[in-house]
Amino acid sequence: MVKKVLFAASEVYPFAKTGGLADVAHALPRALKNLYDVTVVMPLYRSIDREKHGIVSLGESWNITMGGVEYPIDLYGCNVEGYEYYFIYSPLLCDREFLYGTPESGYKDNDLRFALFSYAITALLKKKHYDVLHLNDWQCALAALLIHKDPMLSPKVIYTIHNLAYQGIFDATILETIGIDRTYFTMGSLEFYGRVNFMKAGIAYADEVTTVSPTYAREILTNEFGWGLEGFLHFHHAKLSGIINGIDMEHFSPTEDGALIAPYSEAKGKKANKSDLLKKLKLKGVNKPLCVFIGRFTHQKGIDLLIEALPKIADLECNIVLLGEGEEKYHKALELLCANHKNIHLTFGYDESFSHQVYAAADFLLMPSLFEPCGLNQMIAFSYGALPIVHRVGGLVDTVKRLETYQEDSCSGYGLTFNTPTSRALLGAVKKGCELFEDKKYFERIINHNMRCDFSWGESAIAYSVLYEKEREIHG
Ligand code: ADP
Repeated sequence: MVKKVLFAASEVYPFAKTGGLADVAHALPRALKNLYDVTVVMPLYRSIDREKHGIVSLGESWNITMGGVEYPIDLYGCNVEGYEYYFIYSPLLCDREFLYGTPESGYKDNDLRFALFSYAITALLKKKHYDVLHLNDWQCALAALLIHKDPMLSPKVIYTIHNLAYQGIFDATILETIGIDRTYFTMGSLEFYGRVNFMKAGIAYADEVTTVSPTYAREILTNEFGWGLEGFLHFHHAKLSGIINGIDMEHFSPTEDGALIAPYSEAKGKKANKSDLLKKLKLKGVNKPLCVFIGRFTHQKGIDLLIEALPKIADLECNIVLLGEGEEKYHKALELLCANHKNIHLTFGYDESFSHQVYAAADFLLMPSLFEPCGLNQMIAFSYGALPIVHRVGGLVDTVKRLETYQEDSCSGYGLTFNTPTSRALLGAVKKGCELFEDKKYFERIINHNMRCDFSWGESAIAYSVLYEKEREIHG
């Protein structure tokens, strides 16, 4: 019999997306579809367009008791192209402007909101049978603990860490409000320097813990990248593995992309998209290299060193397009740079279609991330024929091979890489890129090679299925 999998995430494309987790929660369940009967569950945030996606009430409501208080929950659902989605609605969890708050500060009651989400996932498991529960990130990590302490529930639990920098750390006084006994307030469980850490629940109580690239799986065991959890992860390392993310090659396909003025299948086809974008953004010089950055304006993404390097990059014969949103201080610094340099264009906000146009127009994608669990942008860039320029860290090590090692017959994507996260190293790599760009034939050859590579979920979905099927082991 085909196993039933419940895949839980706090954001799923196309319903709600702030970053890569939504892409993964969209694409991985689809890739698993031939092997499993997968249902995805997420919160029904206010920003989700119910009508557009055909989301309807499933007529099931129940009360969740958490810390002695009752919270009403309604179950909604939709079916998109044969894929089943459940949505949890509760005013506490869903009726907000943003998913988690602003980049500066999360909502004060995110602890309660996402504890409730975990309770709702657990309640769903009681109502409908699932063999495997796949939890993602801190927002649903507490479900692993709730299942552990409920003798009636025994799904195999997989917990995936998409970014260790966000652990869901809250004041210890929350324990009572979220109905968790103080016996769980120990170093081996939820306690973290006197506070409560939701991610620890996922790590401690899941049967398997994964993260989104093999290199990041090694890095998080170190002081430098462990965010204080390296010791705890070491203790649980026997059940920890790294499985590289893929991208949905249909969604990120320049041949069929409706957002593009001129869909294309090889390097030459990019020019029309580049001309169009430059015209729209009032930038000049279709023959100059176009360097882009798409992503969150945060420390993690290397924005500090990008800001430091940008004046010098702007002095090169090139154009620069930046798309993203994030912390106010970065917005101000970037605005200033943009005002001083005619060849820099800056767009604040989150815009999926526009991002596709930028990938299509770009010659280089800059990713100076200080740490990067996997990163999807570089794979999207390969697919759209933009050469990634990346700091060799985390998933970028696993996905971007050094151009110096280029082999025509390999199935890896190549890019320019630098080893130390400094503005100087970034500038050096961009300069190298600009020189390379002059050798049109060679540049096109590399771009065409990258565009032909496969970054889909195929192999990684199989790696997850191996974990879904693995006999339970007693770890720790
Ligand atoms: P993160 O750490 O933010 O999750 P990833 O590289 O894993 O980064 O995934 C980022 C995803 O979000 C990619 O699909 C990228 O194209 C998209 N993205 C990031 N910022 C923006 C933006 N401002 N507008 C549109 N898409 C964006």
